[in-house]
Amino acid sequence: MTENQYDYVVIGAGIHGAGVTQAASAAGYRVLLLEQYAEAAQGTSSKSSKLIHGGLRYLESAEISLVKECLRERTLLLSNAPHLVKLKRFYIPVYKSTSRRPWKIAIGLWLYSLFSGRDYHRVQKKHWPLLDDLRTDDLEAVFSYCDAQTDDARLTRAVLASALSLGAEIRYNTSVQRGVRDAEGIAVQYQSDGHAHSLRAAVVINATGPWVSEVHYRLTAVGGLPIALVQGAHIVLPGKVSHPYYLESPGDRRAVFVLPWKDQVMVGTTETDFEGDPAGVTATDAEVCYLLEIYNHYFQQNMTISDVQASFAGLRVLPAGEGAAFTRSRDAVFVRDDATQPRVVSILGGKLTAYRATAEKLVQSLKPHLPEREVIADSRRLMLPMVD
Ligand SMILES: Cc1cc2nc3c(=O)[nH]c(=O)nc-3n(C[C@H](O)[C@H](O)[C@H](O)COP(=O)(O)OP(=O)(O)OC[C@H]3O[C@@H](n4cnc5c(N)ncnc54)[C@H](O)[C@@H]3O)c2cc1C
Repeated sequence: MTENQYDYVVIGAGIHGAGVTQAASAAGYRVLLLEQYAEAAQGTSSKSSKLIHGGLRYLESAEISLVKECLRERTLLLSNAPHLVKLKRFYIPVYKSTSRRPWKIAIGLWLYSLFSGRDYHRVQKKHWPLLDDLRTDDLEAVFSYCDAQTDDARLTRAVLASALSLGAEIRYNTSVQRGVRDAEGIAVQYQSDGHAHSLRAAVVINATGPWVSEVHYRLTAVGGLPIALVQGAHIVLPGKVSHPYYLESPGDRRAVFVLPWKDQVMVGTTETDFEGDPAGVTATDAEVCYLLEIYNHYFQQNMTISDVQASFAGLRVLPAGEGAAFTRSRDAVFVRDDATQPRVVSILGGKLTAYRATAEKLVQSLKPHLPEREVIADSRRLMLPMVD
């Protein structure tokens, strides 16, 4: 291969770009990752709820295979990145007014524990006072189950460091402009340092998260991916909670988390339709007030906007549709420019938790279309390195 020729060019250093770069490098391919910013994880992969979880609530929408896959990946991450992924005991309080009744939550948790091999239990009333300042009036039951927390940006950097150790290359401050396919592959044009550059790849992976539609158009000249962008905000508050809590918003009945985060409290998330430049997404005042209200309600506080230490928002890439964002699938979807000989594959949606499985599926599906290479590692067994 010449200097500027790759098997894979991956665009976007979020968790999916990092995951595909790692999986493709492990499969023996020559891989280059291009990122528009100076650092990795500047998009959604630093703005998530930072949970490595099966997604208990996806059981409600019967996304059983997604829950199972995420729980399998959680197990792998707990052993491959114990310094980054920590198992925690989560608590679900059920009040007289909670719409999901204790029997329904118990069934969900039973299934969840069956899939994950981790226990759940009903917390005895005498232990309720140990649950931070959680209000206990009208409290009917409290359940406890296991899930995991991480630092999403650090996890992304660790996966990238693993990919680099397998021989991958990365170029920051490069913005992909255009792709031109031909019989042998695809030419990718990008801007860097104010100059135009070009390289060649057998296949380009568009892992640009909320920018996916625009970049797909740049690469294929075909637009209109069937997606909607829905923003999710978090706030960080002073104080501490000793455990993660899974709560039901008293107003609209959505699931909201209150999480311990770097000696403070993180509350999220929301679902607000978004249009515009993904780079400009921020938490709105309405979202901040919504999250404050939930925290104040359950933890008997009187915090106001002036108490908020930080807020951030990320963009979910969901299938376009009429239904509530809450009910739309979170599974990753691959869109190919051509079924017979794909040169561009765009990744839509997906979960931080399932990044490795998503990347592995993508690399396996492209194998018949690429030259044969000697596998050098199995991503299921790669320990993730320590990173800053
Ligand atoms: C509010 C919220 C909470 C979530 N919570 C969880 C959770 O707790 N657990 C979980 O498992 N999942 C969660 N998710 C899902 C998960 O965070 C996302 O699926 C994942 O982070 C998406 O990563 P990505 O790599 O696809 O996109 P991104 O992280 O956005 O990365 C895309 C990258 O592409 C780059 N890029 C864009 N355009 C170009 C270009 N032209 N040239 C070069 N580079 C470009 C961007 O700069 C960016 O670095 C959450 C999502 C949201 C929105």
